[in-house]
Amino acid sequence: MDAPNGPCDLHLHSHYSDGTLSPEELVSFSASIGLSAVSITDHDTINGQAEALEAGARFGIEVVPGIEFSIDDGGSSHHILGYCFDHEDAALSTAVAALAAQRIERAREIARLLSDRGMAVPFEDVLAEAGKGSVGRPHVASVLYKRGYVSSVPEAFSRWIADGAPCNVPKKTLPLDEVVGLVRGAGGVAVWAHPGWNVKKDDLLDRFVAAGVRGIEVWHPNHSERIVEALSAAARDRGLVMTGGSDYHFAEIMQADIGEITAPRDSLVALRRAAARGPYLP
Ligand SMILES: [Zn+2]
Ligand SMILES: [Zn+2]
Repeated sequence: MDAPNGPCDLHLHSHYSDGTLSPEELVSFSASIGLSAVSITDHDTINGQAEALEAGARFGIEVVPGIEFSIDDGGSSHHILGYCFDHEDAALSTAVAALAAQRIERAREIARLLSDRGMAVPFEDVLAEAGKGSVGRPHVASVLYKRGYVSSVPEAFSRWIADGAPCNVPKKTLPLDEVVGLVRGAGGVAVWAHPGWNVKKDDLLDRFVAAGVRGIEVWHPNHSERIVEALSAAARDRGLVMTGGSDYHFAEIMQADIGEITAPRDSLVALRRAAARGPYLP
């Protein structure tokens, strides 16, 4: 379906992070329901981008390169979306490869801690659970469950591997300025993902903007109408780009279906303009 001015879903996850669909499936479905553009924003990886761009050309829908990074800001965790970057940029590719290596090391360390407590969690089984996706705690949890050490996946988390549980190993994340630097260095633009009421917190937005964040994700399944209003006002006040999307992972845990939460076409135009403007000088 040709929808040159149709809405855009700028927040989708594929099986390269923790979704279940391939980039091609996400892109072809999005084209079939009349979206004009999509972005696959997998956690800490750009492995699905080339496939998504190729599918976009085939199904006649624009594909915007995307990624979702986790950052640690003085003990609280936030997500930053990157858009419109060169998906072949060397520095960005090196950085995400390092993050992938750290994820594997972390999962291996968690498996080792569990083995020390008498629960055999073969690392090959953990990798097999992850498939093409980024390996992480959910995969360790399903091995624990399948081997009968716990009676459910949630129990695997609460007893053993949740934050603060005996066999967890904290995740390493990049600091905000490094994430923004990588995205901008690759010609892209950084957006604060689903801020919710955090937008009202102290000087958080000020600091994010000072670090070079140029947009706010306004439309998201976790945002009530009141939050959308607050975020729109904050974006307008500071001249930030407003983006949005369904944050779709897979049907079983979806809060919104693909294309159910979208950003208007103008958002994409504004994102491109912000990316083209280059490094932000306060
Ligand atoms: Zn997120
Ligand atoms: Zn997400």
